[in-house]
Amino acid sequence: MNIFNADLHCHSTVSDGTLSPEALAERARANGVELWALTDHDEIGGQQRARDAARTQGLPHLTGVEISVTFAGETVHIVGLGFDDRNEALRQGLAATRGGREERAREMAAELLKVGIPGAFEGALKYVGNPDLISRTHFARYLVETGRCSDTNDVFRKYLADGKPGYVPHRWAGLGDAVRWITQAGGVAVIAHPGRYHRFTPTTEFALFSEFKEHGGQGVEVVTGSHTTAEYGKYAAMAIEFDLAASRGSDFHSPVESRTDLGKLPRLPAQLTPVWELLAERITHPA
Ligand code: AMP
Ligand code: MN
Ligand code: MN
Ligand code: MN
Repeated sequence: MNIFNADLHCHSTVSDGTLSPEALAERARANGVELWALTDHDEIGGQQRARDAARTQGLPHLTGVEISVTFAGETVHIVGLGFDDRNEALRQGLAATRGGREERAREMAAELLKVGIPGAFEGALKYVGNPDLISRTHFARYLVETGRCSDTNDVFRKYLADGKPGYVPHRWAGLGDAVRWITQAGGVAVIAHPGRYHRFTPTTEFALFSEFKEHGGQGVEVVTGSHTTAEYGKYAAMAIEFDLAASRGSDFHSPVESRTDLGKLPRLPAQLTPVWELLAERITHPA
């Protein structure tokens, strides 16, 4: 069967999404998704639940994760698909990547206090489903709750984006490490939403794609909720130039916050190799 409506990027309460893995699987099926992966940030603790829920929904499934990486001084995200989620090196690598999040969150709260916002650490914690994974998104939800901003996008714009008062720089995993954790666990590494790295010059972007390939990366997100139509074209061309397979995913976090719902994306351009063709053996089919 040809798969068109694959959605290989979304977040649950195990990272910074607001729905459980079970609710996401149900929503994916209801929206016509034909192949689904849950890609929580730096965390695969939800993968067994996602696999079970996909089976319950009759939904073909791949394991997934979205790893935070520091490249050229900026944060880049690498999606991993179809890996063995019992792999010990991957588990340890992700645990190390998550490690600094609590301290970073305390520093963010201290910075926000300086601009007159008290109690942000405790406030953000109320939204955290996994104590190991406190993220900027949880702070954003708290700042919306307090009425300081109208929505989470507005919070990022005013407080949490690089250069804003609540932003605390953080060193994440190395690009080569993240790609190796994924590939050595039998998965495929994918550059997530390349159109979102606005601070990169064309030279830095070329370096990211080149080094990613050298480390064994095989895919790039072309159709994602984070890209404009123009970016679909730009990154389709980059996929061909760098001989990378193409991925597709909504990056869905929440019914109220996300622009793009699960499974509600245009198809991948026909001339590209879908990343799931590299992963046919790793797809779990419902009985
Ligand atoms: P963190 O991993 O803690 O740095 O948080 C990164 C997360 O913040 C991303 O995965 C998004 O979910 C969210 N995020 C980043 N930028 C924005 C933005 N401009 N608007 C809304 N959410 C954002
Ligand atoms: Mn997120
Ligand atoms: Mn991301
Ligand atoms: Mn994401």
